[in-house]
Amino acid sequence: MEDGLPDRNLCLVVHSAGNASLMQRPMPSPGPMQLLIRVEAVRVQAIPVALADGTLVAPSGKPIVPGQEFCGVVVGAGSSVDRTDFPIGTKVAVAPRSFCESCYYCERGQTNLCEMGAELFGWHVDGGYQQYVCVSHRLCQSFDKNVSWKQAILAPSAAAASYGMTKASILPGDTVLVFGTNVCSLMGIVFSRGLGAESICVVGSPGASPQQALSCGATKFVHWDPSGDEGQQYQNLRAVILEETDGRGADAVMFASDHGTGVPDMYVAVRLVRPGGCIVGVRVWEGAADADALGGEKAACIVEKLHSKDIRYISVKGFSMSLFEQALRWIEGGLLSLGPDVEDCLPLNAWDEVHKKGAEGISTCILCPQL
Ligand SMILES: [Zn+2]
Repeated sequence: MEDGLPDRNLCLVVHSAGNASLMQRPMPSPGPMQLLIRVEAVRVQAIPVALADGTLVAPSGKPIVPGQEFCGVVVGAGSSVDRTDFPIGTKVAVAPRSFCESCYYCERGQTNLCEMGAELFGWHVDGGYQQYVCVSHRLCQSFDKNVSWKQAILAPSAAAASYGMTKASILPGDTVLVFGTNVCSLMGIVFSRGLGAESICVVGSPGASPQQALSCGATKFVHWDPSGDEGQQYQNLRAVILEETDGRGADAVMFASDHGTGVPDMYVAVRLVRPGGCIVGVRVWEGAADADALGGEKAACIVEKLHSKDIRYISVKGFSMSLFEQALRWIEGGLLSLGPDVEDCLPLNAWDEVHKKGAEGISTCILCPQL
């Protein structure tokens, strides 16, 4: 263990639906295969916000510390961990979801379907909204000490977007439609560009700045106002996509679950993707495509278009550790630097203020529990 560790650990605990508060817990102690991590940065995402405001309840129904994506410094290790891999002081990013790496699904990269029961941090088990956390060493990936927390925190989104856009088989000259300007969407733009897409149209909420998306490689930016006329906005977007594609439709459409634009994503995607095209949904969890909430007519349209247009749907819920490592190597090499776009680094006690920023705004904030 690192010398001088405190004996208390400041955590944000969601005690029950909508009832969250900061509290001190005893310092955790790593199990044999675990590392003790001093959390330096944790992303603010839709699930922590929903847990804290009570719109989602963790599956166990017990108190939980939110925070899926986090990184930090190794300050201790269990007895069975090879210390040469993780010396004290190593900077590590933590994969957001646990998996065994050896079952039928893990060997195919479908780690979200792990037969050993994949667990998501901040949902099934305590996550990164705390100063110290113990995690399996197998979920940790070290990175260069010169990489900032702002950059390293992008690794899970980069790995997810890379996985999805690669499976979408984007070819040089293709047209891609992306919903949202959150980190995952921006990564989708970067990878689409890298794979050779020529035209990348991004849809953002009224307050979203086109600049971030354009600097990542987007070629067109369309605002979508959730309070505006949905039919009219759809027609405007459709006109843009058809003009770009000689009337065919986009070769691929990509969105992450927390894009926050108000676009009814699947309903718009199935109509604007070309026949034989591909839709990539990143981290779209159970219930997100709720047919009742969407309305029967729209749900029926989605099913009909998926079949009649021969659309491929790719759901990205996980990625292999090798892809996670690759994402960190890209970040180290300066290939995926979105550093300036992570705008706010705030202390843990600012969680309430950050959560109130709303869906699209929160994605550029990180909490830094050591501040
Ligand atoms: Zn497995």
